[in-house]
Amino acid sequence: MSRISYVNGNYCEHKDSFVHIEDRGYQFADGVYEVFGIINKKIVDYDGHINRLFRSLKEVQMKSPINKSSYYFHIKRLIKINRIDDGLIYLQITRGVAERDFKFPKNTRPSLVMIAKGISLESYEYTFKRGINVKTVKDLRWKRVDIKTINLLAPVLAKQEATDHHCQEAWLIDEDSFVTEGSSSTAWILKKNILYTTPLSNSILNGITRQSLIKGLKKNKLRLIEKKFNINDIKDADEAFITSATQYVMPVVRVDNFKIGNGKVGKHANIFSKAYMEAIKLS
Ligand code: PMP
Repeated sequence: MSRISYVNGNYCEHKDSFVHIEDRGYQFADGVYEVFGIINKKIVDYDGHINRLFRSLKEVQMKSPINKSSYYFHIKRLIKINRIDDGLIYLQITRGVAERDFKFPKNTRPSLVMIAKGISLESYEYTFKRGINVKTVKDLRWKRVDIKTINLLAPVLAKQEATDHHCQEAWLIDEDSFVTEGSSSTAWILKKNILYTTPLSNSILNGITRQSLIKGLKKNKLRLIEKKFNINDIKDADEAFITSATQYVMPVVRVDNFKIGNGKVGKHANIFSKAYMEAIKLS
């Protein structure tokens, strides 16, 4: 079966899907993106992701190349033609192809690509049962990480540092020694039955998974405090988690050299995962 991607209005064989060498995404990281989770052929929290995409576009003064309802159509079509049951859609918009010049080009149409990828739920469940290890790494990103831009060199380096230390995620540490978030996820710790996560600001991405988990916590009367935490709080934590559109709620069992709790996935992992799964909208 062939794999099909979307490139500027065309459905192409994935291996033949190209953009020009003077695309501004390639030269300047001048673009934004979204990742939509797919469960059972359905898009997870579509409205949240599409609204965040339009916010990102507005913040970088870019216009969407297609209207809002067309995104839904193309994403559903990619899920269908690629026969994706569970997985993700990666969607990227750049300021388009123009001769290299820092200033915005005039009359250039933004480039839009979408890539579908199948990921089995079993691989998620396998990791969930074991939990993941996290490495703390200095947060070297720019000051507007609330915008989901393709400028990802700092998180790439952070994730590689984590990987080199046999960890699956990096938690980024700000200048005051607090965790901002993961390199590609939201960070959470649990202490005395209270869940903590960093409050929203320009220093973190407003995770769509974060929003749905918070909704699920409220419904189940589980306690949450939006407050920064540091390495001492992590050492004292009973459990820890990351959330993202592709990892949903994922337990963390080790941060640097410190075991979280007894170093095994704790009892709240299933409680939070269930609360999240009940709160999401599938469409
Ligand atoms: N923070 C960062 C830096 C991320 O890259 C991601 C994943 N896109 C998240 C948080 C989680 O966001 P979401 O739940 O919307 O995937």
